[in-house]
Amino acid sequence: MNDTPAPIFRVAVVGGGLSGLSAAHRLVELSKTMESRLDLTLFEAASRTGGMIATQQIGNYLVELGADSFITNKPAGVALCQRLGMENELIPTIDKWRKSLVLKDGKPVEVPEGFMLLSPAKVWPILKSPIFSWGGKLRMGWERFLPARKSSDTSDESLASFVKRRFGQELLERLVQPLVGGIYTSDPEKLSLRATLPRFLDQEQQYGSLIKASRSQAKKQSKAENSESGARYGLFTAPKNGIQSILDRLREKIETSATIRSDCPIKSVQQAEQGWSVIIGGGETEQFDAVILALPTHRAAELLAGVSPELAGDLSSIEYASSAIVVSGHNLSDIKHPLDAFGLVIPEIEKRNIIAVSFSSRKFPGRAPEGKVILRTFVGGAMHPEMMELADDEMKETVRKELAAMLGVSGEPDFTEVVRYQNGMPQYHVGHLDRVASIESRVADLPGLELAGNAYRGVGIPDSIASGEAAAERVLN
Ligand SMILES: Cc1cc2nc3c(=O)[nH]c(=O)nc-3n(C[C@H](O)[C@H](O)[C@H](O)COP(=O)(O)OP(=O)(O)OC[C@H]3O[C@@H](n4cnc5c(N)ncnc54)[C@H](O)[C@@H]3O)c2cc1C
Repeated sequence: MNDTPAPIFRVAVVGGGLSGLSAAHRLVELSKTMESRLDLTLFEAASRTGGMIATQQIGNYLVELGADSFITNKPAGVALCQRLGMENELIPTIDKWRKSLVLKDGKPVEVPEGFMLLSPAKVWPILKSPIFSWGGKLRMGWERFLPARKSSDTSDESLASFVKRRFGQELLERLVQPLVGGIYTSDPEKLSLRATLPRFLDQEQQYGSLIKASRSQAKKQSKAENSESGARYGLFTAPKNGIQSILDRLREKIETSATIRSDCPIKSVQQAEQGWSVIIGGGETEQFDAVILALPTHRAAELLAGVSPELAGDLSSIEYASSAIVVSGHNLSDIKHPLDAFGLVIPEIEKRNIIAVSFSSRKFPGRAPEGKVILRTFVGGAMHPEMMELADDEMKETVRKELAAMLGVSGEPDFTEVVRYQNGMPQYHVGHLDRVASIESRVADLPGLELAGNAYRGVGIPDSIASGEAAAERVLN
């Protein structure tokens, strides 16, 4: 019998948001098949893990202070919930409110049925819609006759350039900017289409037209639905007790065999003779064989400045936008609008002070008590940095006036909370994928270092999970 103890493999994960927790959890999962013994520490600067995600019980309301749902057609989110044993906790959105509104001349109007982010799949709802002029509608219809961009032209293109080229200015200003710009809190003139929604570029190449592509896909989808192979949760899902329950479960699993150190900001990392030194804010240093930095890129750049100024430079070149959400709980009877939708987006061209309002408790059951509703109003982003200068009371007052004007909200809310995300949203500007490729090649030259987070290859929950898990797998490989 061999009594030699298994060698120890020491890994540090820096950052306890969803990406870092996913990386640590994957390491714990994979450690069961490792020959060496995993010694894992997760360092988190704040007093709680979870980063930008938090679910809070406020009175009888279940309130999301960050993300409130995730997309199911990217598999990493649902797959993780299955592995965490919480598949049965995932709930679908409420069917009867499944539509979106957009502001037109100060009034909420329905987004035409079948409209998918930047492409209309159905003609009739567009023709009927009061959102567009007849000239705008004709220009959109013309899309199916326009030639595709030459396949040899692979230069990155902004969302705005693509939509103007295919469908015209009006569709961009009235619908695509608020719908897509809202998700990324970005300026569509700068947002890279290849880095955010590459399928539309691929559709242009494959079908010659996005309208033709949507038609063909709608047919395939209805066949799939008829054969009952449709997705079980619909396009978006969330755990019944809120997004935070995924993070809580991750934390529990990690703590079975690793250490989580909260209130523990990391100041820098340095290459050591063997592996990596992690320098903790208080001055203490710990040694590891490998380090995963699951941080916003501006933070990762600070930590790596002494290791590779070139890598730190590339990381700093990814810009971030700041945003805030003002979350409030209301009596439905205090709101004139029926709120018969998931939310309202506001085009820049309307010249208002808010980006979007999500009718949070219309998306999922169990969020607000009977006769009440939760509104989450999005403020700031790349298009409205000035809003972030407002004090909380001023921001609440601005939002109160906007909600009154757009939706007829009156009366005292049961609660109002301002949640700020300072430099929280990475901006996938034109050239983003080249920047990421350069970062990845520089990291490949630094064995034992890995990066994870929402700044590289996708901003949402499934992307962050996939990014953390992939970093863990690379470390063990
Ligand atoms: C308002 C808002 C709404 C959103 N809504 C949705 C949604 O509905 N659906 C969806 O899919 N996605 C949504 N997202 C995106 C999603 O929430 C994020 O992509 C995801 O939470 C990112 O996780 P992360 O771990 O990469 O980053 P973060 O959550 O930023 O985590 C980074 C962590 O690193 C820690 N840290 C920083 N510096 C140090 C240091 N020096 N040492 C140690 N620790 C450090 C931070 O404290 C933080 O905990 C939303 C984002 C925002 C801001």
